[in-house]
Amino acid sequence: LVRIFSGIQPTGRKHLGNYIGAIQHYVAGQDAGESIYCVVDLHATTVPYDPRELRERLYDTAAILIAAGLDPERCILFRQSDVQEHSELSWLLSSVTAWGDLNRMHQFKEKSAAQRDLVSASLFTYPVLMAADVLAYRATTVPVGDDQRQHVELMRDIAERFNARYGEILVVPDGQFPEVGARIMDLQDPARKMSTTGGSVEGTVYVLDEPKAIEKKLKRAVTDSGTEIRAGADKPGVTNLLDILAAARGTTVAEAQASMADARGYGDLKAATAEAVIALLDPVRTRYEELRTDEDRLEAVLAAGADKARAIAADTLADVRRVMGVGPAR
Ligand code: ATP
Ligand code: MG
Repeated sequence: LVRIFSGIQPTGRKHLGNYIGAIQHYVAGQDAGESIYCVVDLHATTVPYDPRELRERLYDTAAILIAAGLDPERCILFRQSDVQEHSELSWLLSSVTAWGDLNRMHQFKEKSAAQRDLVSASLFTYPVLMAADVLAYRATTVPVGDDQRQHVELMRDIAERFNARYGEILVVPDGQFPEVGARIMDLQDPARKMSTTGGSVEGTVYVLDEPKAIEKKLKRAVTDSGTEIRAGADKPGVTNLLDILAAARGTTVAEAQASMADARGYGDLKAATAEAVIALLDPVRTRYEELRTDEDRLEAVLAAGADKARAIAADTLADVRRVMGVGPAR
């Protein structure tokens, strides 16, 4: 039995990397088995944020997910903080998490280096909460982008250590990484991933960008020396564009490259990529605009999702508490 779980942060504006690397696969997951998707507002508090905006961004993110094709009748879609089991499990799992492992996490190193003020303890323990998100549902499959490989590895270690110590209670999940578009890079800096919190506005295509903005950003994308359109380690800019083109069209990178055989230069590649990205995102933005106006409906969808999610997570928590000797005997 396949049970899919994945989470997405309601920080800032979601971008093409999120869409290609994660959201598209959430949608596909609805046909692959039971699927559970969570807007992780507790994760969003690990770096500076505006409390008044968090709720707005949460609705934005939920509306994008539904606009992209998540059907709350066919999957469980909910808000992390509505299911308090995540927080409790996170604490309990931190006792089977090696501090040294957390200390090796690339995401913590990158994000803590970017903080000007406080480096929060929660930024450090973020991967434990992420492990709790997944393990609470005994999920088998975690569709995420390439940047989450290390966190998935860690949650597997946590589950294995827990099971070795307390008995086979948790399911050790597998990461599921896209074949194309697992790591979309910033258009202005192809050495770093497109990001919600870190990147440049010019280098980031947002899911809700108007076609004109998408065209402009792709036109100005940093490319490489030479004129040859091919993927390769020596051509990070062009490789990124081919990756985006392939992912947006649903083809392989080789096919995307072959389709550009008659192109006259990078300008043609950028135009073709812009066209494919607009075709991909424009319908999402249109549906989003309708959905976003009705916050009561979004709230009702999330609340119904939380009820379903809580039933599963509470069951796992009861087992975890029992084997750990926490709370009264049941
Ligand atoms: P931040 O940079 O602040 O962590 P983010 O852009 O990574 O934000 P998240 O909500 O943390 O957004 O990630 C949601 C999903 O999108 C995750 O599965 C993540 O792996 C995936 N993802 C994020 N950036 C990219 C990218 N550039 N290419 C492909 N997938 C990505
Ligand atoms: Mg992230």
